[in-house]
Amino acid sequence: MAGADIPGADEYDIDLSIPESEVRRLLDVGPDDVAPADELTFAKNVFVPLTTACRYTCTYCTYFDPPGEASLLSPEEVREILETGADAGCTEALFTFGDDPDDRYSRIHDQLDEWGHDSIHSYLREVCELALDVGLLPHSNPGDQTREQMALVADANASMGVMLETTADVAAHAGPRRKSPGQRLHTIRTAGELGVPFTTGILVGIGEDWRDRAESLLAIRELHERYGHVQEVIVQNVVPNERSTFDRPSAETMRRVVAMARECLPEAVSVQVPPNLSPTRELLDCGVDDLGGVSPVTDDHINPDYEWPALRELEDIADEAGVPLHERLPVYRRYLPDEVERGADAGDSATGTEWVSETILRAIRADDEAGARYRRVLDRVSFGGPSSR
Ligand code: SF4
Repeated sequence: MAGADIPGADEYDIDLSIPESEVRRLLDVGPDDVAPADELTFAKNVFVPLTTACRYTCTYCTYFDPPGEASLLSPEEVREILETGADAGCTEALFTFGDDPDDRYSRIHDQLDEWGHDSIHSYLREVCELALDVGLLPHSNPGDQTREQMALVADANASMGVMLETTADVAAHAGPRRKSPGQRLHTIRTAGELGVPFTTGILVGIGEDWRDRAESLLAIRELHERYGHVQEVIVQNVVPNERSTFDRPSAETMRRVVAMARECLPEAVSVQVPPNLSPTRELLDCGVDDLGGVSPVTDDHINPDYEWPALRELEDIADEAGVPLHERLPVYRRYLPDEVERGADAGDSATGTEWVSETILRAIRADDEAGARYRRVLDRVSFGGPSSR
């Protein structure tokens, strides 16, 4: 498959070349072809749905609100959520919003203007700095971004992300303004060019076929091979909700897709499933090694009908799999310098500094409560599983 066959590829100059032989090889992969991971990881996060405005209207999505109803959290509301998270021992502030929310929502635009911001990214930068101030590492997931938008916030984030979902043209991306796979790939490529540790993933069951799943995973792999920036790939199944009647893919389907992801991606790239949406226990022998961000204090606002399991639940999952469970930071360890000792100068280290900014390194090395919390996580405290017995 040439990159030009991907919808939106021409517009965004997507220069991928996905060999047919690799697609075929991946289509033959099943759970028996991959090994289970020898540990599971997760991050403790606090979920901040900065705005529910989005220029798109994907049919499976309950996150967005129409113009006139969409919310925009104020700095005071954001601070309150962040402080609750920091007090509960979280390390990650997960900022989410729809795509280009100030594009067609005049109320959001006017509100931003009143607060002194000419764009949502300018506001995002302010709340990322607020998160660092409160004692949390920002991970922003602001939909598709131009190079200028990403560059404006990259150094205030430990990592960023956007779901590719699929390289296919699916009817679920409905409406006059359709999400473009070419634009998603452009955003993922931009993160690579800017050296941003990145999370992406595929969404299973929105009308794509098996070939589309293989091609989507191979597209992610090709961009990662070029830049080395993809830290984890989420394999997420669609779920029924009040806006859509999509069937939840079977456990058998998810087992095969997760195995394909594990086989396709380099070992260093984690394969993540969200435990509040997936048949997680049935997927663990297919190469899953990360359970994503779990929040002890906020709902999953993207899928509010599905509660995050308690941390105890994650411990049980790891116990059943017979592997240790480790907390991690929103930025994976390999993107940090070898030594992240307290009080060291951000510029001291020879490795890793190209991936995270001095701002983030300073926060991790700080001689304060938050810095100590980050470094404890880097020291790999075990939760549940055989190594903690
Ligand atoms: S899935 Fe994302 S891009 Fe699509 S409508 Fe929902 S928030 Fe917008």
